[in-house]
Amino acid sequence: MYKISKDRDGIVLLCHDCSHVERVNAFNESLGSRRTQAARAMQSHSRSKHGGSVLKPVSKNFGVMGQW
Ligand SMILES: [Zn+2]
Repeated sequence: MYKISKDRDGIVLLCHDCSHVERVNAFNESLGSRRTQAARAMQSHSRSKHGGSVLKPVSKNFGVMGQW
């Protein structure tokens, strides 16, 4: 599980279970949606570090986030 936040560098995904952070801006847009890549990286982090499957973040603002 993770939450999505924003800091001065852009959108960040924050792990709920530790201080791990994935920065959307760190991913290469030419490889596809950076948001999708960040989410995938976070899911893989959670699986390897916390041993569980990751639920998609539940947010009333998810539709807005789709416009990144
Ligand atoms: Zn973590």
